[in-house]
Amino acid sequence: MKVAITLVVGVALGVLTVKSVTAQVQRRPNIIVILADDLGYADIGTFGAPNIRTPRLDAMAAEGQKWTSFYVQPVCSPSRAALLTGRLPVRNGMFGAPGGTAPKVFRDNAAQGLPTEEVTIAELVKSAGYTTGMVGKWHLGQLAQFLPMRQGFDSWFGVPFSHDMRMTVPHDKGLQTEAYYSPKPEYWDVPLMRNNEVLERPVDHRTLTKRYTDEAVRFITEKRTRPFFLYVAHSLPHIPLARSDGFVGHSAGGIYGDVVEEIDWSVGAVLDALRQAGIEENTLVIFMSDNGPWLPFRDHGGSAGPLREGKGTTWEGGVRTPAIFWWPGTVRPGVVTDIGSGLDVMPTAAALAGALPPSDRTMDGFDLSPVLKGTGPSPRHELFYYWDNELRAVRKSRYKAHFITSGAYGEGEPRTTYTPPLLFDLATDPGERFNIAAAHPDVVSDLVRTADTHRRTVVPTQPLFDAILPTPQKR
Ligand code: MG
Repeated sequence: MKVAITLVVGVALGVLTVKSVTAQVQRRPNIIVILADDLGYADIGTFGAPNIRTPRLDAMAAEGQKWTSFYVQPVCSPSRAALLTGRLPVRNGMFGAPGGTAPKVFRDNAAQGLPTEEVTIAELVKSAGYTTGMVGKWHLGQLAQFLPMRQGFDSWFGVPFSHDMRMTVPHDKGLQTEAYYSPKPEYWDVPLMRNNEVLERPVDHRTLTKRYTDEAVRFITEKRTRPFFLYVAHSLPHIPLARSDGFVGHSAGGIYGDVVEEIDWSVGAVLDALRQAGIEENTLVIFMSDNGPWLPFRDHGGSAGPLREGKGTTWEGGVRTPAIFWWPGTVRPGVVTDIGSGLDVMPTAAALAGALPPSDRTMDGFDLSPVLKGTGPSPRHELFYYWDNELRAVRKSRYKAHFITSGAYGEGEPRTTYTPPLLFDLATDPGERFNIAAAHPDVVSDLVRTADTHRRTVVPTQPLFDAILPTPQKR
């Protein structure tokens, strides 16, 4: 009898009613992206760190999915732009003038920012009814009109750019400047901001991980009853390294290890807050880094483990990041070796939030939710590696072709072009040591064609990183 009544009601009220009931039962998930800064591929336990203990991240990976071929852009600002927009930096000016002197990111006196016409994850899910919050480093333009509050975030607590910018002491020894290795807060004039107001200046770097964590936990607790998107962009372990008192000497891996172990604690605090709020089975948490380790900083930089090179290059060590997806009861636990990219976070978030990514522009990401749920393989089969607006390498399946290589920021290995390209089999040679181009001309031809096809989709845009204000702006 009960069944019969249900059927009659269903027919009478029609499809719309059935759909709205389904939507109530399956509440759209919260989405949290935790981004480390300059963390290397092998800097956490589950990705091979021999001397850094990260029990919370290791457990997160064991309970969720650990992606071993997940990629980002080779340096901070382009990587953050790609993550938030699902578009390659070459499409929206998120690069420096080739051959120019800009540091290939937005500077502390940048006159430009991520163009406001771009649609960020925050804007997209906000339009679908999500509450949006950001904690941490922005680095997509320091002027008020480019800050997070103008890019879809309801709230922001953090710093507008890297905490090694606006240096107040001499640094004529470049990366070997002593201040980087014995930092004091007053060596940098970096503001800590809440929304559009400066809270503190200079910020005390040693407090950042702890305070970002407190803010993230408070956001989760306060917003737990509605779908939310939270972007936690740690300032560390980017140099200058700093950790709170409780983590001094915490690690067997020196100060760099201390810093990473505090971030591990922070990730644990976020997951604990979700459990405390009873929303862990309705929240996707993604952990990743923005780019590879900054190797010239030696023991103040991280490690890419078996991968070649680091930050600022299109070798694997510059762009392959440790990535973890966690969502108890929904993400099928396991190790994923399929290719994924930070570009895919925006379309994945859109699918989960029930929002449509913009259709009036070229998107470069894919919805990874079938992989997360264990219902299908990664839709991504190709990967394009850029430095500035220069396509330097292409990966397709297990093979990667390099057309151009160089050391980070023009140092070390000189810029070299290859015709035919270098070819590596990343399945058997993730360290990119053995060029096999001569033995596989068919694979080389295919990758050259793939690069040519991709280049035809790119409409030239102006580089935005070189535009700076005439004098440093005071807030
Ligand atoms: Mg970085």
